Amino acid sequence: MKVGIFFELSSNRLQEWIMARRYELFVDGKWTAASTGQFIDRVSPAHGEILASFSAGSAEDLSNAVSAARARFDDGSWSRLPGATRATLINKWASLIERDLEKLAKIEAEEVGKPIRYARAEVAGSVDLARYAASLAWQLSGNAFTNLGEDKLGLVTREARGVVGMIVPWNFPLVTLFQKLPFALAAGCTTVIKPSELTSGTALEVAALAKEAGIPDGVINVVTGTGQAVGEAMSTHRDVDMISFTGSTVVGKQIAKNAADTVKHVALELGGKAANVVFADADLDAALDGVLFGTILNQGEECVAGTRLLIEESVADAFVQKLVERAKKVVVGLPLDDKTDVGALIHEQHMNKVLEYIRIGKEEGAHLAVGGNRVTANGLDKGFFVDTTIFTNVTPQMRVFREEIFGPVLTVTTFKTVEEAVALANDTNYGLGNGLWTKDIDKAIAVSQRLRSGTVFVNTYLESAPQMPFGGFKESGVGRENGIDGLMEYTEVKSTFVKLGKRVPVLPTTIAGSH
Ligand code: NAD
Repeated sequence: MKVGIFFELSSNRLQEWIMARRYELFVDGKWTAASTGQFIDRVSPAHGEILASFSAGSAEDLSNAVSAARARFDDGSWSRLPGATRATLINKWASLIERDLEKLAKIEAEEVGKPIRYARAEVAGSVDLARYAASLAWQLSGNAFTNLGEDKLGLVTREARGVVGMIVPWNFPLVTLFQKLPFALAAGCTTVIKPSELTSGTALEVAALAKEAGIPDGVINVVTGTGQAVGEAMSTHRDVDMISFTGSTVVGKQIAKNAADTVKHVALELGGKAANVVFADADLDAALDGVLFGTILNQGEECVAGTRLLIEESVADAFVQKLVERAKKVVVGLPLDDKTDVGALIHEQHMNKVLEYIRIGKEEGAHLAVGGNRVTANGLDKGFFVDTTIFTNVTPQMRVFREEIFGPVLTVTTFKTVEEAVALANDTNYGLGNGLWTKDIDKAIAVSQRLRSGTVFVNTYLESAPQMPFGGFKESGVGRENGIDGLMEYTEVKSTFVKLGKRVPVLPTTIAGSH
């Protein structure tokens, strides 16, 4: 059961009455109490009020959800439906999500701490992903080989993988889920979802909307709780055929190890340390906009954050000066305020980690050009806010250049040649995204081909489209989401050999002749 409790909240929450939500697990189409009887409270990272309570699921709860998903997969009532019928249901579901966009965006903004403007865009983007994935349910197809010999036919077909366990992070709770879930559903899989224990609200809400849309019970199950209790049980469970994980590289490696015992298919979307390479011949005003956007979007809690600015030396001073002036105008504020550009970091420990990186950057000899502080003024004293921070004179040896900070922190490093720019951009264990800015099309293509990342943005930053695959090189991941590649992740390939007409025995007649 989902219960709403109303609290009168303090004035810094726009004097709204806001519902603190209390959720059970969503298993086999029903709200179901967790076996532990415990709840995990989500306290707002922006103002300290309780926003929601999520059930603390256990390995036993996870196992019940897997059984529901397994039964639904094996009885074929989802996987063997015509693709067109699955598409219709996914589209109905997308329309219900669109209907509830404002409510879902508020939940997302409040639980993550992100600005409502961006939360709305995230919900709208998730609707697009669902509609695109629905279209793919129509066109799941295979190959036929007619060249095996005239009395033979070879069929290569795609089948749904089975039960897919999905583990998602807190920074984009809905969109990271929607890069997986509708694609798995389009392929005919059934699913068990483990959202982050900090931001489970939207996953639970959309699971209930799927039921309202007519998607059969047991196709989407949500088990909330910690990674240790629920996530580990999921990645080791024998009846889970695949794990699709988005989160940190450290946890991704652990999941791959845990899944190895049962030889599950594993898809991993992990961390990043993107470079934004600005050449002197770029439209520098556009680059300023893109570089700052890539730094502050989602408070920098963004796997593709353009956290390393690499700038051609001849234009560096003037560019950085303007960037600093713009950074000072970024509005740090409460999530539900439409004017807010940068909201709260996810929790106090994470804010302290970001502040510690700022201390390390100074200690390593980088020059702090702007920011570097916690923000508490104007009613932000109960939250975890950090202002936009820019370090110049950063060298590739520094930790702030190498490690994922996951806050609104930009490092600036200069280069003189194209060779040097490419080498600096690729000087990282990660390979999720990179950006480059130049008006020279030859240079743009040559450099983008040499950047070792799954996505490259040319004269723009942080664009996405459902039809464009997304994923990482190196330690940023394995596999691809979105696009047709995203659908294929959720399918197994089957070869079927068909003999036409009478088969000639291959065994010696001494064996073949006896009945
Ligand atoms: P995290 O790895 O700490 O947690 C992600 C999820 O894994 C959560 O649901 C968590 O409860 C669960 N988990 C934790 N330990 C587990 C275990 N042992 N077994 C199974 N599940 C476990 O990540 P986070 O802090 O929530 O998110 C931030 C990270 O996610 C960053 O590194 C960011 O770059 C990455 N990320 C990547 C992408 C991408 O598409 N590549 C997108 C968003 C975020």
